[in-house]
Amino acid sequence: MERLPPKEIQCDCGHTFTIDRRRYWCEKCANPVYYYENEKNTHKWNTFLIYLAALGAISFLAYVFIEMIVIPWSSLQ
Ligand SMILES: [Zn+2]
Repeated sequence: MERLPPKEIQCDCGHTFTIDRRRYWCEKCANPVYYYENEKNTHKWNTFLIYLAALGAISFLAYVFIEMIVIPWSSLQ
C-alpha cells in the first residue's frame, strides 16, 4: 500500500494517533479510520447500502416464505 505523509487523525472514540496509510484500524476501539475524511463518508454510505441490500433480501425472503409456505398451508386448513 502507498505511503502517505504522516497525519494526525482523531477517531470517533476520541483516540488520536498518526497514520501514514489511507486506511487504518483504531488501536482503542478497532474501528476503521481513514486518511481522507471523504473516504470515511464513502465507507459509511457503502455500509448503509449494504444494510439496505440486506434488508431488501430479507424482505424478499419473507415475501417468498409467505407466498410459498404460509398461504398454501393455510389454504389446506
Ligand atoms: Zn477509536
